[in-house]
Amino acid sequence: MRGSRRTKIVCTLGPSSSDKKTIRALIEAGMDVARLNMSHGTQDDHHRLISIVREQADVLGLNVSVLMDLQGPKIRIGEIPDGPVYLEKGDFVELTGHPIEKSTSERLYIDYASLSEDVSIGKKVLIDDGNLELVVSELRGDVVVAEVLIGGIVTSRKGVNLPNIRTTIPSLTEKDLRDIDFGLEHQVDIVALSFVRDPSDVTDLVQRLGGPRERPSIIAKIEKPEAVANFDKILTQSDGIMVARGDLGIEMRLSQVPGTQKTLIRKCIQAAKPVITATQMLESMMGNPRPTRAEVSDVANAVIDGTDAVMLSGETAAGSYPIRSVEVMAGVIEEIEKYCETLYTPGKKKSANVSDAIAASATELAEKVGAVAIACMTASGNTARSIASHRPSVPVYAFTDDQRVVGQVTLTWGTKGFYIPFQSDTDDGISRLLAKLVEHDLAARGDLIVVTAGMPLPAKGRSNTVHVSKI
Ligand code: PGA
Ligand code: MN
Repeated sequence: MRGSRRTKIVCTLGPSSSDKKTIRALIEAGMDVARLNMSHGTQDDHHRLISIVREQADVLGLNVSVLMDLQGPKIRIGEIPDGPVYLEKGDFVELTGHPIEKSTSERLYIDYASLSEDVSIGKKVLIDDGNLELVVSELRGDVVVAEVLIGGIVTSRKGVNLPNIRTTIPSLTEKDLRDIDFGLEHQVDIVALSFVRDPSDVTDLVQRLGGPRERPSIIAKIEKPEAVANFDKILTQSDGIMVARGDLGIEMRLSQVPGTQKTLIRKCIQAAKPVITATQMLESMMGNPRPTRAEVSDVANAVIDGTDAVMLSGETAAGSYPIRSVEVMAGVIEEIEKYCETLYTPGKKKSANVSDAIAASATELAEKVGAVAIACMTASGNTARSIASHRPSVPVYAFTDDQRVVGQVTLTWGTKGFYIPFQSDTDDGISRLLAKLVEHDLAARGDLIVVTAGMPLPAKGRSNTVHVSKI
């Protein structure tokens, strides 16, 4: 959270943003979370990026967390070493899941061994973000014959989507398992899981990451219709959600995406779990210094929906204007948030438990007494997320004795984390926390701060006290 901005910005790092100077500028422009897209680059590349992000965040004294986005079971066209292949509308092409000597417009290799077992006649095969559309017309042993409905050019490694097909690929591939080890070694704050289909995909990752506690938080990417159908159960198992509009818009009708975005965001706020709205938010800025009016509206509308964070993908990873993209996004957020403050009130949340009722009371109390902030002591970050889910009009400061939680709450709307060793005495703990706010220029003499804590400290996961302190 920079200045008064509440909605967080996630930036994907890539060739356009891999040097120290650009990364520093991205942080200064407002990057709260750096996303490493494991579909591209080597572990060495990513290691370098992590080091630069952490070093520059440290130099600037700002919280920036690292999100590792696993490739997951993404299906791709195999290598086409002899250059692109052109598929013409009305032609029939044989698709095979087993490597062949040479892909041509008659016979194409798709890097997915059980292709012929999983598809059936009448199902669609989409290539290159849905730009090419084929329909399966015949199954001949392990060869799938498909008719080209929308033709175009196919190049090596282009993405393939099989909408409404229950694929049998495991949700964590061999590559994902290697990347998970890498992420644990370098203590990434957040791991995003691609192509989640059902809650067991998430619980498998929880096990891999070493069980429920002391691990990176898990963001489930909702990019398949099955995931939308199973959303409530997936949300229960995950720490947060990404509305992954890129693949979602290929796998379900594009016109259904905006409504799905709104529903998912509302459910995440209700569950007090962070939600990222992703993909093509400022797409035209890949090549232009100014976004389209529709893109500006898209960012603003995601903020109005109440999203915790908005994400830049190609704009910062591979575009010509990475820094400008973040500046534009931050500017749009700041402007629309002023408007929301006067006109937008989040729906009344039902409180599910004591902690959440405490969070609701803290939010209400802060409004009533005119406090400048709500501070909480939180071991897991849950209390902070709970308070933020009531979308208070003042900043939320999360004091935690777990360095990783600082990184995790950086994704949450309106929240800034601080590391502080917990005291066994609550009063002492509160005075230290207030001192820290003054030290960071976030509060001054005479200001009121609403503080929530567990009594007696440290009471993990048990916020039970709301306190009004005057500095
Ligand atoms: P991706 O995920 O960028 O890894 O494909 C986001 C999306 O599909 O929207
Ligand atoms: Mn995707």
